[in-house]
Amino acid sequence: MASIRLILPSQRRYAEVFQYGGGIVQFNVSSLLQQHTGAMREYVIDDDVRIDGERHHLTGLARMDRTPDGIFVRGEMRGSFKTECSRCLRPIEIPVVVAFEEEYVPTVDVVTGGRVDPPEGREEAYRINERHFLDLEEPVQQYWAMAVPMAPLCRQDCAGLCPVCGQEIAGAAHRCTDDEIDVRWAKLRELTSRRG
Ligand SMILES: [Zn+2]
Ligand SMILES: [Zn+2]
Repeated sequence: MASIRLILPSQRRYAEVFQYGGGIVQFNVSSLLQQHTGAMREYVIDDDVRIDGERHHLTGLARMDRTPDGIFVRGEMRGSFKTECSRCLRPIEIPVVVAFEEEYVPTVDVVTGGRVDPPEGREEAYRINERHFLDLEEPVQQYWAMAVPMAPLCRQDCAGLCPVCGQEIAGAAHRCTDDEIDVRWAKLRELTSRRG
């Protein structure tokens, strides 16, 4: 269940609205849209977000500023990602920081209810939907993907697996000597250079 809390106690009444959408990070911004440029809200995020079919728990802050065109969102959230070390294949959990700044523009005018087009040259901007919900799921997914390393390591100097026996080189059970490993690497090099 979503548990997004507002920092300002006077705005607690919105808390219920955020449950809408099945626990994804959505905000009803109709009242912020009705305010003047410069009005600001801050939301504490403590929520599960679906990324690549998996739920990830994120905690952090989303700050929303009313702009002439819409709402500028600054998000900074932290989560973690279970994967395996790309060298030794040991299961690891790595911290992920999702930080982004994006301006959302409305789909309908909050006062008249009429449709509005995005400003000139901003056709690709994130949209606040026709019910005035601002959904952070898409940028969270996008920035999450950028924050997760391509080749995660259990530690920077992980020695990986032995090419001779397949054991972890730094592990207590590993018995091969450096000479054996060097011989195997030399053979490998010979093979690849012959192919090339
Ligand atoms: Zn490792
Ligand atoms: Zn070995």
